[in-house]
Amino acid sequence: MQEYATEYRYGTKWNEDSKVLYKFMECKICGAFDKCCENSTSITCWECVNEMCEPPEIKNKKNSGRPSGWHFMKQFIDKDGNVFYKGVEQLKLKGTMPPTEIIKKIKYTKKEKQKYTQEAAVKVAKLKKELKGLRWKKDKKVIMQRIKNYSKIMNGKFTESLIKKLFS
Ligand SMILES: [Zn+2]
Repeated sequence: MQEYATEYRYGTKWNEDSKVLYKFMECKICGAFDKCCENSTSITCWECVNEMCEPPEIKNKKNSGRPSGWHFMKQFIDKDGNVFYKGVEQLKLKGTMPPTEIIKKIKYTKKEKQKYTQEAAVKVAKLKKELKGLRWKKDKKVIMQRIKNYSKIMNGKFTESLIKKLFS
């Protein structure tokens, strides 16, 4: 058994007794003295332990390219053609069907909805004024259609296509 140098030092730290001798031993890797137990035969100092340990792993959420809840879907086919029935892979069916089209739904926040509702109300008021000044039916029809669309927003219909059409 390899022997390492040891020495006794009085406590210096807050959790040590300054009248008590503590055993120190050379780190088997770097040779720095570190406190050890009375019956230790070799030690690795905290610095070397730190170096041996991998830094904490920060896992990136891997984007599987699958929509949330795909494993609840009756049938889901990923971009590689893997077929799943309620999340269970159907190996025999691999590559037999086109990938499931993923429709990304945009969720609007309460604040955004409020903003769109207010804007829609303003637009509707303006359009109604505009409508009064119009003479021709075909012009009125265009405005009325726009009022109808803005009214949908005011009634709480926040579909992506509608929002894009009206507010961009
Ligand atoms: Zn060390």
